[in-house]
Amino acid sequence: MLKLKGIKKNYYVADMTVEALKGIDLCFRKNEFVSILGPSGCGKTTLLNIIGGLDKYTSGDLFINGKSTKEYGDREWDVYRNHRIGFIFQSYNLIPHQTVLGNVELALTISGISKAERIERAKKALDRVGLSNQYYKKPNQLSGGQCQRVAIARALVNEPEILLADEPTGALDTETSVQIMDLIKEIANERLVIMVTHNPELAEKYSNRIVRFLDGLIIEDSNPFTEEEEAIEIEKSKDKSALVDSGKVKEKAKMSMWTAFKLSLRNLLTKRARTLLTCFAGAIGIIGVSSVLSVSTGVKDYIASMQDDLLSGNPITIEKTGVDMTSLMNESSLQDKREILEAGDYVNVNGMIQYLIGNQDVLLNLQYNNEFNKEYVNYLKSMPDEYYQSITLDYGIDVTKNIYTDFRVSDDPLHKGYGLNKNISLDAITETYTSAIEHMDDYSKYAEMITSLTTVMSQCIPDNDYIKSQYDIVDGELPKNKEDVLIVLDSENMLTDLLLVQLGYYNQDDFFKLVRKALGEDMTNYMTDEEYVSLRKFEYSQLREKKFTWYSNDLVYDKKISYMPDGEGNIVPIESFTYDYDSTKFVKEGETEVDIESNKLDLNICGIVKPKEGISYGALRTGFLYSEALARYMISINKDSEIVKNINDSETKAIYSGITNVGGTEIPIGISYNLDYYWEFGWQGDGMESAVASKQIFVGKKNAISQIMGFFGISTGSDLVSLDARSVAGDYLPSSIAIYPNDFENKDLVTDYLDKWNSMEDVTFYDFDENFTPTDKTITLAATNEARREIKYIDSVELIINMINTMINIITYALVAFTCLSLVVSCVMIAIITYVSVMERIKEIGVIRSLGGRKKDVSHLFNAETFIIGLSSGIIGIGVTGILSIIANVIVNALSDGAVPVIAHLTVPTAIIMVLISILLTCISGLVPARSAAKKDPVVALRTE
Ligand code: ADP
Ligand code: MG
Repeated sequence: MLKLKGIKKNYYVADMTVEALKGIDLCFRKNEFVSILGPSGCGKTTLLNIIGGLDKYTSGDLFINGKSTKEYGDREWDVYRNHRIGFIFQSYNLIPHQTVLGNVELALTISGISKAERIERAKKALDRVGLSNQYYKKPNQLSGGQCQRVAIARALVNEPEILLADEPTGALDTETSVQIMDLIKEIANERLVIMVTHNPELAEKYSNRIVRFLDGLIIEDSNPFTEEEEAIEIEKSKDKSALVDSGKVKEKAKMSMWTAFKLSLRNLLTKRARTLLTCFAGAIGIIGVSSVLSVSTGVKDYIASMQDDLLSGNPITIEKTGVDMTSLMNESSLQDKREILEAGDYVNVNGMIQYLIGNQDVLLNLQYNNEFNKEYVNYLKSMPDEYYQSITLDYGIDVTKNIYTDFRVSDDPLHKGYGLNKNISLDAITETYTSAIEHMDDYSKYAEMITSLTTVMSQCIPDNDYIKSQYDIVDGELPKNKEDVLIVLDSENMLTDLLLVQLGYYNQDDFFKLVRKALGEDMTNYMTDEEYVSLRKFEYSQLREKKFTWYSNDLVYDKKISYMPDGEGNIVPIESFTYDYDSTKFVKEGETEVDIESNKLDLNICGIVKPKEGISYGALRTGFLYSEALARYMISINKDSEIVKNINDSETKAIYSGITNVGGTEIPIGISYNLDYYWEFGWQGDGMESAVASKQIFVGKKNAISQIMGFFGISTGSDLVSLDARSVAGDYLPSSIAIYPNDFENKDLVTDYLDKWNSMEDVTFYDFDENFTPTDKTITLAATNEARREIKYIDSVELIINMINTMINIITYALVAFTCLSLVVSCVMIAIITYVSVMERIKEIGVIRSLGGRKKDVSHLFNAETFIIGLSSGIIGIGVTGILSIIANVIVNALSDGAVPVIAHLTVPTAIIMVLISILLTCISGLVPARSAAKKDPVVALRTE
């Protein structure tokens, strides 16, 4: 039962008030067919909208089943429309992209009824209006009459108590109108039908009550609802309404998010091309950002894949001395101690000497000294085996003065040096060539070239398994014994000619031929082409046959007999002597007998290796490598040699031998030695003769001045050789340690282990003897133990990788920021497109609202639409990026010959995050248009054409 009491409705347009309804009192029976007649603009539609709860009355009251609606909120109106009202419009208001069935279902969809029931009820409603065979047609495939039947089915499907029809036949021809009116008449048997029409014939023929309207007022009512009738009906409805209220009316109108999603998807699918274009446009930003991230990850992965390789070329190193980079950066104390004179017309002398001496302390402090001790070496040796491949202790021995080899002057019988063989130290070969070239006027400038060469023999990694993992053995075998020397070739099977020259593989004659050829001289008279080619290659056996012999210090260094003042004015021959501060006297040194056999060792070139394919940074240095065992053997013998003793003495005592006179002060410069160079065997006159050649050197600690001068490349006398005990194998502690971690992951275990030594924790380790055989003893050192001095290590791979990664990150951030601009553009575009969509679907919004859809349902609808667009954009973006990545990888792989298999790597988390970002951004962009859609006045929406 419906009752209107003094209903007024005003519209406010600009500053004008349109009084559409001027006070309507009207009461409807529960079951009657009411026609409302009146000219256009008299307020019929307005009245219908108010009865249907689509529009709000300005004043008065509307009673539904005797209850006032003054306090109704949005929710109550929505429920009311959804369950009690069915609307039929002149222009049908069907949703074009839904099927007939879908349109009818919509009202049920909004009430959240299950799919099966929806279809059943919708089909039943369609059957009733005579559309049994048209379920799956689209509205544009139907005639006007059929469309109106669909609209009637939609209005009836919820079995409303009231059917409101606004000029339902206004757009139909007479014949169809009659059919539709018959249908409505039939419906009116069960419920209240209020029909607006301006066709009095239809009204009179079909309805049982006619209400006439003029200018917002009722002017005639053919069958008014009387007070008595009302009282009876109220009585009846009392028991009935209880039934009704407890039943379906209780349900709230509610559309699920999933339904909204499906409705939007269907809408988007009807506009496939546009949707696809929108998604592509939205995807551009995603493609940009994810491509950048993909390449950035790919490059990082590539670098990570090189890590293990890099690691073998860049082990963790611990050097005895190094420059402390951090304190160098912080060092602001390098003061300018130069005296600045007043500027004038003269050359100002820069006080460099003063500057250097003034800053000596600071300069020396920049260097850090790692004080290795026996405990530290044992601590390293106690590191768990699984952490590392190899720990190499390099003793920094200069073997060139102790290793001798055969050296020929010439193989040419016509050459004056023919037949002259020398057993010569490696150092002497280099020196011979250097001085020979220095004396050749035209070539002296090339002498430097030879001296600046790398070490001819260095120490090998002791772990053969590790070597085997990186190197192929091309001849012989890996070192087993201390005398074994390994030749390491580069990946092209090469060694340099200069290295072989320094090792005496060329005779002097051939070397000069090579030099002259290289200098562009015409050598045709001296050397055939075959000869030249033969100088450029060696058989493996040729390399391995050459004999090298190591001699101990006591055989190589002879003390020199000098003539010195004896303190009483006489010049007397004396050997080296030391100045004893306690007795202020020179002390003469004794002489020792040296046994040759126990002081030499024949070396054996055991094998030749080259890096395996794909190893770009092998752990071994190219060249000739002697074993760590040999290094320790040399130390075990040389540690007690005389020269070592004297060097060690010179650390505590000034040792006088040669004396230079600097500025009137006598400065001791060291102990004087004859360094034997070679034993020469050759034909001199009528018999074989031998001779020993040697040069004089001074050995000892350089004083501060010569040290500083030397630091800046200023020589303080060519004879001064600052041999330290280490270089002559006098120190059993290593000068540098290289640790090759097992792999990049285990590197942290190694550095943690190294850090533990420097930490405040106690450390426990095994005790080893001098040959690194572990004893049963373990040693525990507290942090305070003075043997625990801080040891700095250099993790260069970490430095390199961190540096590269930082660079990649910076570039990535910059590029992402840049490509984000396209994301912004995408967002703006999606907002515009959603807004256009809202404008297009404004009628649909009205229909949904008239069917009882909530504001929320409408905004859900558009949010679902933007969600789908965002999701599709994201997926398209990721898909395109994936394809681009594959293409980039194929191209880079081809260009790099397989060295860089992957340059772009789109990870799953990145892909997921990018899709989520796409959804988030489009949803945010669509939020404002969706809200504006929800806020649309349903009346205005329905009036829009
Ligand atoms: P009918 O359906 O009888 O042709 P309406 O109910 O549509 O008439 O309109 C009644 C009056 O109210 C008309 O003068 C119309 O211009 C005015 N009107 C209807 N809706 C609005 C509106 N949203 N804003 C302003 N005026 C309106
Ligand atoms: Mg109208």
